[in-house]
Amino acid sequence: MAMFSNQVGLLGTENAFKIGPKIKALEDQGKKVIKCNLGEPDFPVPGFIKEEVKRQIDLDNTHYCDPQGILSLRKAVARHFSESRGIAADPQRVVVFPGGKPPIGLCQMAYCEPGDEVIYPSPGYPIYESFVAYVGAKPVPVHLKEDNGFTLSGSEIAGALTPRTRLIYLNFPSNPTGGVASKEQLGEIADVIRRKCREDVRVYSDEVYEHILFDGSRHASVASCQGMAEKTIIVGGASKSFSWTGGRLGWALFPTVAEAEVFKNLNINFFSCVPAYNQEGCRLGLESPLFAAENRKMIDAFQARRDLVVEGLQRIPGIRCQMPKGAFYVFPNVSGVCESLGIFNAYRQLPDDMRRQTTPSTLLQMFLLFEYQVATMDRKSFGRIGSEDLHYLRLSIATDSDSLREGVSRMSAAARDVEGFRRFFDKGENLS
Ligand code: PMP
Repeated sequence: MAMFSNQVGLLGTENAFKIGPKIKALEDQGKKVIKCNLGEPDFPVPGFIKEEVKRQIDLDNTHYCDPQGILSLRKAVARHFSESRGIAADPQRVVVFPGGKPPIGLCQMAYCEPGDEVIYPSPGYPIYESFVAYVGAKPVPVHLKEDNGFTLSGSEIAGALTPRTRLIYLNFPSNPTGGVASKEQLGEIADVIRRKCREDVRVYSDEVYEHILFDGSRHASVASCQGMAEKTIIVGGASKSFSWTGGRLGWALFPTVAEAEVFKNLNINFFSCVPAYNQEGCRLGLESPLFAAENRKMIDAFQARRDLVVEGLQRIPGIRCQMPKGAFYVFPNVSGVCESLGIFNAYRQLPDDMRRQTTPSTLLQMFLLFEYQVATMDRKSFGRIGSEDLHYLRLSIATDSDSLREGVSRMSAAARDVEGFRRFFDKGENLS
């Protein structure tokens, strides 16, 4: 008799969390690891939010609360989405979750029947793909192209749609590429969806990076396009907007009250509610005029680091790197380095079962981590299906400039170390 259900074995994961113990083991050996793996801003939570959370705890706002989310936060979310997206949001359609992550899987559970198709970007946040097999749906990755700045065109979406399409994930600014779709591109995508999709198709617009945009650009949402508010679930959260990953707060605006009710009931079943004191902190974050200055500081720091890292990576022979327009990641193409270090050859020598567990960019990721102590993420961590011949790494720039400079310089040395890679590979350890 098997211990676990077949279904639970179908879940994927988020490798950014799984690589933690490997980093810890290196640190325990006294090595300094440059951590470009985790997607978490390295700024403290803004002071005015912290003060509000402390005040709420002192007010004993520490009990169970509305499973849909406290009304004051839902009102603030509705106002924020209405004003910034030019739509008419109302608090009855807002549901609060413990992070921006839970609604990803909950939406697949709530909307998909076995055999339904789920479209998602690849490379993309891994949790989109992770749940598809779990709910018995069919994964339909849309491969974002480096040449298009990792954005998405209407025709690319059109090519993925079928009568079985049920959910379409969009994520701009994007993890892991930092790609941002222009208003025109969103308009095209919206046009295709409006013309070709059934009424009950839902667009899941993951906008958790809405506040992290570079070069003075402003966030655009697919929900603002004509006829799209009726089919779009807009998702935001505290992790990136308020640099508050530990607050575990996210929110979604659903197209109808009936849908919000379903998710409220899922919340009741899974976690009852989210701490009210943290919700009040988020409410203030969304409402306070103090937010703008805090946000500016964060954007300026990320933009300066982006420039530094992209420029540094571009100088490494064999690396090609797009300039991200938002979020806090860079996503260099490392095919040239895989070639010059002999990684492609090494990969081909591996036995079949090993080749299934690893990829050339994984071998580079592991070489960088174990021999040069730079933690990055490989391409397959952002959608496995169809990624076999794509060779990229993701570096998070949510770490200080000195560490980033050091990280780039270590990568530059690693990219020339053919002998070092051969020795690492021949040890046969840590290859996946
Ligand atoms: N969506 C995207 C695109 C993300 O990158 C993340 C976090 N890395 C999340 C959702 C979930 O974040 P959280 O649950 O911390 O709000």
